[in-house]
Amino acid sequence: MKRRSLVQASIASGVLGSLAGCASTASVPSKARVVVVGGGYGGATAAKYVRLLSDYKIDVVLVEPNESFISCPISNLVLGGAKSMADITVSYDRLSSMHGVTRVKDMVSRIDTAQKTVTLASGPVIAYDKLIVSPGIDLLWNSIEGLQAAHASGQILQAWKAGPETLALRKQLEALPDGGVYALTIPMAPYRCPPGPYERASQVASYFKKAKPKSKVLVLDANPDVTSKGPLFKKFWAENYAGMLEYQGGHKAVAVDVKTNTVKFEVQADVKADVLNVLPDMSAGAIAKQSGLANANGRWSVVNFMTFESTVAKDVHILGDSVLSAPLMPKSGHMANSHGKVAAAAVVAQLSGLEVNAQPMLTNTCYSFVDDKRVIHVASVHQYVAAENTFKAVAGAGGVSGGPTDLEGVYAWNWAQNIWADSLL
Ligand SMILES: Cc1cc2nc3c(=O)[nH]c(=O)nc-3n(C[C@H](O)[C@H](O)[C@H](O)COP(=O)(O)OP(=O)(O)OC[C@H]3O[C@@H](n4cnc5c(N)ncnc54)[C@H](O)[C@@H]3O)c2cc1C
Repeated sequence: MKRRSLVQASIASGVLGSLAGCASTASVPSKARVVVVGGGYGGATAAKYVRLLSDYKIDVVLVEPNESFISCPISNLVLGGAKSMADITVSYDRLSSMHGVTRVKDMVSRIDTAQKTVTLASGPVIAYDKLIVSPGIDLLWNSIEGLQAAHASGQILQAWKAGPETLALRKQLEALPDGGVYALTIPMAPYRCPPGPYERASQVASYFKKAKPKSKVLVLDANPDVTSKGPLFKKFWAENYAGMLEYQGGHKAVAVDVKTNTVKFEVQADVKADVLNVLPDMSAGAIAKQSGLANANGRWSVVNFMTFESTVAKDVHILGDSVLSAPLMPKSGHMANSHGKVAAAAVVAQLSGLEVNAQPMLTNTCYSFVDDKRVIHVASVHQYVAAENTFKAVAGAGGVSGGPTDLEGVYAWNWAQNIWADSLL
């Protein structure tokens, strides 16, 4: 039977119906074959694909605190004013109603890899045969003195997890007077989404050009140079935002002062701005660190790349931004979605007594909007190399745009629609 007709038949016979829905605390199942922690790009994809690839035979429980999925990709356009929060929000409902994933709206507060259980923040415990962990990133507040308090007060925002903070930062930009300064600081790589900060700077400049032409965008980067699509971004900035967007590499932020709205650097002079958008260092999501799964310097999770199984916890598979990346593997939504599929296939094979695919492949495309329509991209294909337990970029596959075009803008928006459908619908 074809997958679609299997799904339709299952719905008709009520098989999925009995599994569907979002579990309240009272009805949280005490056991599931696969528990997924985090319903972002990695986790939602894995949850759906374990169901699909097992022909709906393996139970999946997805634990995620947010009511809906809110996408970081495209969120820079909300800051620039070209898109709204509604444009980047997708319901989780179809994961339950169409794919029979049991959704639990909660946080996982503890993972016991010996007992093979997770504990929810609200108390219940769920036993698993396989655990998939995709909690995204944690922001390392202590890497910049004063930042945590500045963030808590709402004065200095990051908006590096899309949601209410995206809107709050947009409001700060709207309130900035014409002639004001927006300063964005970027941490040393690796961080979530290599081109993301440069896209953000472009979006803010695009907004200023239309709405507040005397204003300035300062990009203060701890890295020596633009870390992704550098020549393309820099050419576009020179041709379109000259005098408005200024880029400076080698600027490592070490402290902020909320009284003067100033950021301090390891070496260079302090910078004062009307809106400060300070991005600290990043690590694997907090739950991975608390559970001993961040075994690369307590910061990232090391996995066996053939299955994405943790190297320190059997039957625990870790995905997405939390993973210690292979060479040239970006921390991106597209990559997390690819991880999700490889891990789902491995988990289904292992639970079904089948051979795990020994030659998994991953793909990635990162589109960046340089204004409200024009886009540049970088694409790559990654092949598993068993002898080195890593993925390597396939030579000659992928590459970067010749230059920004409106057509790539159409592709980028379609990419977003497609990946949301692939992960969630
Ligand atoms: C501004 C910006 C622009 C970006 N643009 C792009 C782009 O154009 N293309 C691209 O491919 N990528 C882009 N990215 C990167 C992309 O968003 C991330 O790489 C991707 O979200 C990583 O997926 P993930 O599953 O690891 O984490 P996430 O998608 O962040 O998902 C993690 C989920 O886990 C949940 N969670 C965390 N802890 C727990 C817990 N203890 N219990 C239960 N749930 C938990 C969170 O609520 C969250 O929903 C961008 C990022 C930013 C910030």
